[in-house]
Amino acid sequence: MPHRLPSGLITGSVKAEIHPTYIDCTMTCACGAVYHARSTKAQVRLGICASCHPFFTGTQKLVDTAGRVEKFRRRFDAAAAAPKAKKRA
Ligand SMILES: [Zn+2]
Repeated sequence: MPHRLPSGLITGSVKAEIHPTYIDCTMTCACGAVYHARSTKAQVRLGICASCHPFFTGTQKLVDTAGRVEKFRRRFDAAAAAPKAKKRA
């Protein structure tokens, strides 16, 4: 029988046996922060969270994948240092 919680949430109103189990979840970020929440998974590993995301910290942070930033910088520096090459026809 569904009933309304003080928060307004209605419980017991979902169809039986079609929903995954909603359990306590430990979320661990790459920065070391640990969050406890509820999810259908017991463990979630995050790449970035509110403690380390640049939007919240206000500091720039490069999330580099396989040295792509370094590769770009090398190419950019090489292009700036080299004399301008003629455009190919
Ligand atoms: Zn984090």
